[in-house]
Amino acid sequence: MAEYDPDNIFGKVIKGDIPSHKVFEDDDTLAFMDIMPMSRGHVLVIPKTGSRNLLDAAPQVLANLIQKTQRVARAAMAAMEADGVRIMQFNEAAAGQTVFHLHFHILPMYEGVALKSHTGEMADADELAAHAEKIRAEL
Ligand code: 5GP
Repeated sequence: MAEYDPDNIFGKVIKGDIPSHKVFEDDDTLAFMDIMPMSRGHVLVIPKTGSRNLLDAAPQVLANLIQKTQRVARAAMAAMEADGVRIMQFNEAAAGQTVFHLHFHILPMYEGVALKSHTGEMADADELAAHAEKIRAEL
């Protein structure tokens, strides 16, 4: 497996070089809206420590990240009035990974509504900001 590259997109989001609609932040973790959401309220949760994906992450990083993911998933489901929530995570390009910094996808799910395609359409920035605000209010 290739080495972690700190110049990846999410590395730049952590440094603040790329703007994001933040939902949650603490010393180790950042959660923000996916710019090409597969469902309304699609959030990404990432550790601030660099690892390419789940395969090279330290166990304590994973343990912390899944706890933060649970917390944000509960808030996203409540804020978006979703009927369920899917947690998704890809490792390496063959598995669908496109950004090589570990992340969990939080996908609020709605009865009878199919997911949009992965890395499909860019969402409206105002809509992402509104969703981020709603989810933050539930945390
Ligand atoms: P992956 O395919 O690696 O599991 O997921 C990467 C996710 O990052 C995709 O869902 C994609 O829409 C999202 N993404 C790509 N570039 C950016 C960006 O610059 N900002 C944000 N917020 N999301 C991004």
